[in-house]
Amino acid sequence: MRRRRTSLRALFGFVLLCLVISRSSYGAPSPIEELSLLKGKILSEDSKGQSVLVLQRVLTALGYDPGPQDGVFGPRTLEAVRRFQKDSGIAVDGVVGPRTVESLERIWARKFPPETYTLRPGETLSLVCARFGVSLGEVVRTNGIKDPDLVYAGQTLILKPSEPEQAGQDGQGGPAQPQRPVPEDSVGYPPGWRASFPAPDKKICLTFNDGPDPATTPKILDILSEYGIPAVFFVIGKNAERYPELVREIHERGHVVGIHGYEHVPLAGVSRQQALADLSKALQVVERIIGARPAFWRPPEGAVDDMTRDLTRELDLTLVMWTNICGGDLPASDADEVLRGVLNYARDGAIILLHESNPHVLEALPRIVEELAKRGFGFQALR
Ligand SMILES: [Zn+2]
Repeated sequence: MRRRRTSLRALFGFVLLCLVISRSSYGAPSPIEELSLLKGKILSEDSKGQSVLVLQRVLTALGYDPGPQDGVFGPRTLEAVRRFQKDSGIAVDGVVGPRTVESLERIWARKFPPETYTLRPGETLSLVCARFGVSLGEVVRTNGIKDPDLVYAGQTLILKPSEPEQAGQDGQGGPAQPQRPVPEDSVGYPPGWRASFPAPDKKICLTFNDGPDPATTPKILDILSEYGIPAVFFVIGKNAERYPELVREIHERGHVVGIHGYEHVPLAGVSRQQALADLSKALQVVERIIGARPAFWRPPEGAVDDMTRDLTRELDLTLVMWTNICGGDLPASDADEVLRGVLNYARDGAIILLHESNPHVLEALPRIVEELAKRGFGFQALR
């Protein structure tokens, strides 16, 4: 009898272990698969049902307390959503829409990276490592990859070396908890990502001129989000006035919004009043939208003279030029050329100028990020 109990226990342990292993492709509790249920939905206070339950489970797993998991969007769930939104740097409105769901997914992926991942077409190693917050070097070592550029869709990678088996002393099979000690800094943006500038480490700053533009800004923001890197957008005042929601989005996603004049005309050589009016208007427009006064100014065409320099000081602005002076992306006729222009000027503390108006920039951006990352650069915004 005793023997039978022992073997039953062993069997139970084994089954549990199998369950854990079979679920471990996404580690931890696993409401992540259900997160897709929230896509396209808008949940707010007093919403009810399965989607709210999923939301509550996800929030709980991420360390937020939504109160009882009862499928009712009550005050405690509201509070948890607001805290999550605040921590993720998105608009704190207590409403769960596409932006919040995207942040939940992003932070989930980093907090509970899967043990294995199968590459999809178009994905590269650095993209996947950035998404799950795992070290590229470690993945290369663990998987015995010879050339990080030579990975293929359908290839399954071990993202984390499996931890030593803890189960099975005397066949008792303690259900190996899928424990994944997650360093706090792997959640969301790493701390210090807005390190003061220039930073002592090998860091680079990507800046985008001439937006916001509905054709490019959202896509650029998505690419930056995918890699989890910050950037600076020097927006043209009149464009910002036209597309305030894009400026808000840049700001809410944690990037820096600088000004690039209101009319986008070179201010060196014009009258002091005209320059002052142009800059002040740009500052006002942006401040109205994001609720904070921009601190950085990039002069159109890089045109500065003594008068504009004085104005910069008076308006308490910091003038930001760029490093890739001759590698400017504007004349580039394809993505390769944009990439080359950036790489030629990549060095610690470099400020890289890119234009939203050049269609090849969008295509080049993921490659720029990956190439720079491969060369050991981190990314930072201005502060
Ligand atoms: Zn410009």
